[in-house]
Amino acid sequence: MLRSRYRTTSTGADVRQTADEARAARRDDAVRAAVEQGLLGADVPVVGLLDAVGIRESARELRAAFDAVVPAGTPVLHAFAVKAAPLVGVLRLLGDAGLGAEVASPGELALARAAGFGPRATVLDSPAKTPAELREALALGIAVNADNPQELARIDALMRSAPSTSPLGIRINPQVGGGTIESTSTATATSKFGVALRDEGAREWVIGAYAERPWLTRLHAHTGSQGVPLTLMARGVAEAYALAEEINRRVGRRQIDTVDIGGGLPVHYASDETTPTYAQYAGLLREAVPGLFDGRYGLVTEFGRSLLAKQGTLVARVEYAKHAGGRRIAVTHAGVQVATRTVYAPAAWPLRIAAYDAKGRVKGGPEVVQDVAGPACFSGDLLARGRSLPLLEQGDYAAALDTGAYCFIHHYAYNSLPRPAVYGYAPGADGRVEFALVRAAQSVESIVAEAGGAYADALTSLGPR
Ligand SMILES: *Cc1c(COP(=O)(O)O)cnc(C)c1O
Repeated sequence: MLRSRYRTTSTGADVRQTADEARAARRDDAVRAAVEQGLLGADVPVVGLLDAVGIRESARELRAAFDAVVPAGTPVLHAFAVKAAPLVGVLRLLGDAGLGAEVASPGELALARAAGFGPRATVLDSPAKTPAELREALALGIAVNADNPQELARIDALMRSAPSTSPLGIRINPQVGGGTIESTSTATATSKFGVALRDEGAREWVIGAYAERPWLTRLHAHTGSQGVPLTLMARGVAEAYALAEEINRRVGRRQIDTVDIGGGLPVHYASDETTPTYAQYAGLLREAVPGLFDGRYGLVTEFGRSLLAKQGTLVARVEYAKHAGGRRIAVTHAGVQVATRTVYAPAAWPLRIAAYDAKGRVKGGPEVVQDVAGPACFSGDLLARGRSLPLLEQGDYAAALDTGAYCFIHHYAYNSLPRPAVYGYAPGADGRVEFALVRAAQSVESIVAEAGGAYADALTSLGPR
């Protein structure tokens, strides 16, 4: 589908190409070039690819969408949810494109710092922060959203011992309900996240917490991720805004100056089309919650999946093509170790598969129903089941599309399969696709080391012999 926002007219020609089509074309070029340049082949049967141009574009679209709905000068921090694509090179690129980082563990904080994010560009959320993590964040001046009353008590103690410049807030669960995928619905009645706002006494507790702590200046709600409809997300934001207004009214000052609206824009996995767009969501929010966009509040957003998913492609060589019980099966090197959610919960996380031939060219020909299997030793290790695709043959490549977030970057060590290399790509000066290594493939030596190779005698040395 052409959408006018993306249309570009090349002078004299009838050609209109959408950004989505351009991205798909870059992807096909990258797969072919990866084979040609030897990044993929018989000895390197699986890689992850990231579209550097596409990542910059999605960051630009996010910033433009919110800039268009707030008065000029309104502070807006788009803190990328690091968990969606925890690679230092990805974070550095997003930082370069003007984004910040939302982190939820000491590891993610370390990645954000390694990428060069300063404290003012970093937000720490997580439901299980230790005292040491809180102390470090407050010492650095990183924004923290307290998840619950016990965590707020820890922050109280830290603030008494050494006042901090960290912007601090409380995460609420607006309890507006869930979406179609339970595991990514964060605003259900019994969600583990934040202060459950509709529980008895909770609202009054939150208001009192702010009244007693002039340094609590933020309010945070993240209503859900994939599967949560936009209207429900907007209701979560509206609840947070209404509470911020109530708190400021009750305490008699503009104490809450920033609302963190979380992330969660869903990704359309069924085609190359980007829908919904950031512009649509920002427009919907402005309509639903106009007071949040009139310049009185600064904003923090925490998008993850929507920034990266469509920029990633997982490409795996077909090691064998076989059939069983009348079903065609392509046995590839991409399975549960690189597409964990899809393999374990295929109904919730279906992935599009593209077929490429042995030279990395888009494969044509009649479609055949087939399974695309992974390398792991359990029968459920399937990237796709009963999918109609041009017949995948030995030496061809199968690519799982839209996998730049929560997929191949999130390796799972089943069968001691190695983490694949991840490369970024962009069109080079001479028309060749240029690649840059973002993460090296894991070596077999590293697998042994991570499996306790240095402690091989640990168990034999214990107990009676
Ligand atoms: C996971 C998460 C996000 C990002 O969600 P996406 O669906 O990837 O946009 C943002 N904020 C918090 C608190 C999260 O847990």
